[in-house]
Amino acid sequence: MRLKDVLIRFVYPRRCVLCSELIGIESDKYLCSDCEKATEYISGNVCEKCGMPIDYPGMCRHCRNTKRHFDEAFAVYRYEDRIREAIHRFKYRGKGGYAKFFGTEMAHFADLEEVPYVDYVVPVPISDERRRRRGYNQCELLADVYCRERRQVCINALVRIKKTKPQNELKRKERIKNVKNAFALSNDTVDLKDSSVLIIDDIFTTGSTADECAKVLKRAGAAEVYVLCLSISVK
Ligand SMILES: [Zn+2]
Ligand SMILES: [Zn+2]
Repeated sequence: MRLKDVLIRFVYPRRCVLCSELIGIESDKYLCSDCEKATEYISGNVCEKCGMPIDYPGMCRHCRNTKRHFDEAFAVYRYEDRIREAIHRFKYRGKGGYAKFFGTEMAHFADLEEVPYVDYVVPVPISDERRRRRGYNQCELLADVYCRERRQVCINALVRIKKTKPQNELKRKERIKNVKNAFALSNDTVDLKDSSVLIIDDIFTTGSTADECAKVLKRAGAAEVYVLCLSISVK
């Protein structure tokens, strides 16, 4: 490490993304050793459609009963405990810098689980108003890091056209209604005909956000639409 970097680390010591514990000056890691040990990717048996951990083969209850527009979804972490708290800081407490850690982990996970390489990676958009207030779209930050790591092309193909409430404040049925027809193609996007696309989202709860995005992309001609979520809420 160069002296300059050591000094920067000294003045701004690196803290664990998950528990805020100080990490050694010389470390390049994002997590303390405790959190590193306690944090695992989702693996083992998952729903073959949405990536939800299940203890039986095939599809989860929701996917069996709901038509999904996306072809397959993958999720890196369970939305619980320290991951959940860190995602909350990432979204609502100005910790956009966490994207570097989370986006890199999404790319590692994608390598392990063979998430398909696609023509375009598309982040779930947020409204202009929310972006102004927050200063960034967390999914866009994740998609940027992911694309750099996996050498994929990121495009902002979608826009949010309907004012929606935050999904986490709603019940299942309301969530589906809340995001229904909330997205559209952005005006200057590329021709998606016969393309493959990967949607990047932060939290998969009912899957309705990812699904509405997939619907728009499929209607625009995309042949395959996959979803990669940083986390999935497991019930
Ligand atoms: Zn920690
Ligand atoms: Zn499922």
